Amino acid sequence: MTTTKKPAAAKAAAKTTPAAKAAGPKKAAKPAARNPAAKKPAGPIQVEAIDARPEFDLFTYCELAGETRLEHDLLEELEPRFDDWSAKYLRAYRITDPAAPKGGGHIVLWLEEPVESEIEGIWQDSPSAGMSFHNLAIHMVMSAAQALVPELADKGCAPLPKPTAGVLKAFEKLGLVWNTEGTVNRQFAVFTRSPYSDGCSVCILRPKCPNARDDD
Ligand code: SF4
Repeated sequence: MTTTKKPAAAKAAAKTTPAAKAAGPKKAAKPAARNPAAKKPAGPIQVEAIDARPEFDLFTYCELAGETRLEHDLLEELEPRFDDWSAKYLRAYRITDPAAPKGGGHIVLWLEEPVESEIEGIWQDSPSAGMSFHNLAIHMVMSAAQALVPELADKGCAPLPKPTAGVLKAFEKLGLVWNTEGTVNRQFAVFTRSPYSDGCSVCILRPKCPNARDDD
């Protein structure tokens, strides 16, 4: 996040201005010395649509769903649904905010609302089938994120950084609403740094996460 605090030196200069006026004739001000270490203003935020390529992986899906085997009929439904959702409803963007740490790169991806309604409808008929498709949607966004940020595959989750003011504006333009508890207004979504950096230490879920680690 950027701050708008005045630097201490500037505040001191503002306070001493009247005394300086009374002290005598004005001298011509020296041109400010160049400070090579001075920060350049951050550039504009960039938002770019990217190609997300999730892949259905039976082993990963079963692990996520806590199943050791799947009924053939269910499997026959899962795979086509995965392809259909991926083609129609998966959105992915790269957001680069030069004011954010580590180059400011992030990815955000999500499944659009019709997927949520579809799963809700399945749930009404059969809660267990609803849960299977709910897990399918999670598998899809995680698989897409892992294809873009390979380190996430080892980690098994995606560190969730606090979005900067610039990233929040980008969300708004994309129709996403950030909630303070660390979610957006889409049920199946991933937001994380890209390239991967700093692991759990930047994740806002860390205080309540039983899997948080200090070693990355
Ligand atoms: S704190 Fe928890 S959710 Fe966040 S990256 Fe670490 S393990 Fe994942």
